[in-house]
Amino acid sequence: MKPDIRDLARRRLVLYDGGMGTMLFAAGLVDGESPEPWNWEKPEVVSAIYRAYYEAGSDVVQTNTFGGTAIKLSEVNLENRVHDANYLAARALVQVRPEGRYAAGDVGPTGKFMQPMGEYTRDQFQATFEAQVAGLVEGGVDLISIETMYSLEEALCAVRAAKKVSNLPVIVGMTFDKNPRGFFTLMGETVPRCLKALADAGADIVGSNCSHGSPVFIELARLIRENTDLPVILQPNRGKPALENQVMVYRQTADEFVADLRVIAGLGVNLLGGCCGTTPEFIARLHDALHDRLNPAPREERPA
Ligand SMILES: [Zn+2]
Repeated sequence: MKPDIRDLARRRLVLYDGGMGTMLFAAGLVDGESPEPWNWEKPEVVSAIYRAYYEAGSDVVQTNTFGGTAIKLSEVNLENRVHDANYLAARALVQVRPEGRYAAGDVGPTGKFMQPMGEYTRDQFQATFEAQVAGLVEGGVDLISIETMYSLEEALCAVRAAKKVSNLPVIVGMTFDKNPRGFFTLMGETVPRCLKALADAGADIVGSNCSHGSPVFIELARLIRENTDLPVILQPNRGKPALENQVMVYRQTADEFVADLRVIAGLGVNLLGGCCGTTPEFIARLHDALHDRLNPAPREERPA
């Protein structure tokens, strides 16, 4: 039996995956197209991406279900395919998961706002996440990975939903804007406030992904580590993208990315991976560079 991800994350550094969207775009997904239908239209492409991340050394790979809530899928009139989108993605990931590795059910934001800013109620948000998580759980994932949350209230709905319909470990990555006063969610919530509320709601592992490249994440790593006792996850983007011919292009080299993530690993972060722009190549480079932290010498068991 492999250890629970919460125990593993306290014992050694855990390597997450890199960008999923990045890989799908490289495989022909077009801007504005929803990635979830590829779980039934092009399952071989999605499975090849999963396999590439496991082969690069990822301990944890996430399902292609970032937009897999009914609210998000309704933008492309696929709100009736929630179960398929999530169940098929999870089952495909579990099928290629090597022994001892982990399949994470990915949950992203709805893209909408709750009242009074938007039209949705808290109950509707919670229900949409419950349906998504149920499909992921039925597909056999080992944990739930909530990410890129720009609203604490929405993240809390997702955590409560995951806790209600499963007993699986729940990992949450918030995404923060940076201004001269510090780091804030889009809704204006501070890092300490987010970390405390997520822990109170039962999140098992907390941290941040997306919005910034690895240099900014060094600063964010210190702030997050100082403000929680839970294991911390961080997934920076591949540097800061530049707009070239109306397309966002990521130019940071793997050497630069890896150098920053070595610093971040030294700050007591427990799970590391990449977000937008990162590929299996970046994860393979991290796997080499962080070898000692990923494979620490076994500690002697002391008799109680
Ligand atoms: Zn990202």
